[in-house]
Amino acid sequence: MAKDETKKRVFSGIQPSGIVHIGNYLGAIRNWVGMLQECDCIFCVVDLHAMTVQYDPERMQENVRETLTVNMAAGLDPEKCTLFVQSHVPEHTELTWILNTCASHADLARMTQFKDKSRRNRENINCGLFTYPILMAADILLYRAELVPVGEDQTQHLEFAREVCRTFNSRYGETFPEPKPRFGKVTRLMGLDGKAKMSKSMNNYLPLLAEPDEIVSLLRPAVTDPARVKRSDPGTPEICNIHTMHLGFSPPEDMAWCEQGCRTAGIGCVECKKRLADNMNEELKPMRERYNQYKKNPGYVNSVMEDGAKRCRELAEETMRTVRKKTGLR
Ligand code: ATP
Ligand code: MG
Repeated sequence: MAKDETKKRVFSGIQPSGIVHIGNYLGAIRNWVGMLQECDCIFCVVDLHAMTVQYDPERMQENVRETLTVNMAAGLDPEKCTLFVQSHVPEHTELTWILNTCASHADLARMTQFKDKSRRNRENINCGLFTYPILMAADILLYRAELVPVGEDQTQHLEFAREVCRTFNSRYGETFPEPKPRFGKVTRLMGLDGKAKMSKSMNNYLPLLAEPDEIVSLLRPAVTDPARVKRSDPGTPEICNIHTMHLGFSPPEDMAWCEQGCRTAGIGCVECKKRLADNMNEELKPMRERYNQYKKNPGYVNSVMEDGAKRCRELAEETMRTVRKKTGLR
């Protein structure tokens, strides 16, 4: 796809670190789909980022393809955006090194994702996990992206990328536009156990392509407002994760029904979850169907990856020519 100069450039990415879940969809992918018409969108499966925690190299290729296929099934039409794999464009790592010299160590040390993930991966606290936000800044700046649609957990990394961008521009002259975050209706979905955000790397998620009976069985034990011990106890929808899911998947009349019913104990959590499962299923059904179609056509998925890498290599090379010149490298 050629760049349309009148459209804003959008970049975002997803790690091939496990099963794509409804948190990824509500926080990121659905907003990506919503920007396809108005923007020049580039979306990436960020395999280099996924190497920052323990992973199985034997399964990497399969995970990359699967992540891409699920995203296509979720509505990222390859005819309307550019889809590619991060490591297929080596300039990401080249720009990362240069941005390393513009990034503050003290700023990196404040990143909560590093703190969380290093707590969970004590046996492998590697430098890549620490400098993850610099690679993310390179991903965005390489394509001179202006908008970055992400979930709330990436706000801190994006602020960091903006700082790196400002440092580069002030040191070497105006080169990159300052990227801005773009959030959707749901910015952070908690895991089904209600303890931490829903994450691919934690066993607390509801897969985006779950079958109807799996949706029901995963929602059944999902944590709700802890104050609702008995059905007759009134609850507070705002603190309930199921309410957040309704916000993502249910029409306004169902939202009102769920809020009112919860506050007055007119409905129980079981009914509330049942309505959610129906609405969720409605939205996810066409995705499961598209996924099955794409799975039957691996050649098409390959060609999407190859076309995406080709376009991105051209864009990246153009940026790097400028960057090398400005930094005095060539
Ligand atoms: P991992 O556990 O490996 O970090 P993840 O589930 O956090 O995986 P990422 O690939 O890191 O997923 O993030 C992809 C996108 O999904 C990002 O824009 C991120 O902000 C968004 N996202 C991830 N989890 C959630 C969530 N629970 N709620 C809303 N958005 C989310
Ligand atoms: Mg994550």
